[in-house]
Amino acid sequence: MSMYMKLTPRQKEAYVIVFVCALAMWVMIALAAWCNGCEPVVVADVRTVMALPVVAETWNVSAYCLCDICIDVPAFRDGITASGYVIEPGDKFVAAPPSVPFGTMLTVPGYNDGEPVPVLDRGGAIKGRKLDLYFPSHKTALQWGRQHVAVTWH
Ligand SMILES: [Zn+2]
Repeated sequence: MSMYMKLTPRQKEAYVIVFVCALAMWVMIALAAWCNGCEPVVVADVRTVMALPVVAETWNVSAYCLCDICIDVPAFRDGITASGYVIEPGDKFVAAPPSVPFGTMLTVPGYNDGEPVPVLDRGGAIKGRKLDLYFPSHKTALQWGRQHVAVTWH
């Protein structure tokens, strides 16, 4: 008779439970490690293979420049965005609510030739579904005015 056969049914049950728990834990650890390392690649592949559309939502999009009409706090006209980025000539970026992390890329139709731009700034009035587009001059900011457009998030 083998050792295994000498175990009582209760002992066998206990061994099976321990074995199943260890296996489940190993699977979870392996899964967590896999998700952690591979998630962006997996998301990109799924999007490519299934041709899923990126998320587009209608946002209330205003425009601003660094003038005293657009920014009423003088300290905020220093050319340094809330993210710490120093504005350079020709830059295109967006001020978004705090719920949107800095560096998030989005596409706003009619801005930057429809190419994606990063979120680099915040604004006191930029809350909810509001965005503020940066323009190099007050004239160009006025030309945009305020528009409700379908913003695509990347
Ligand atoms: Zn202005």
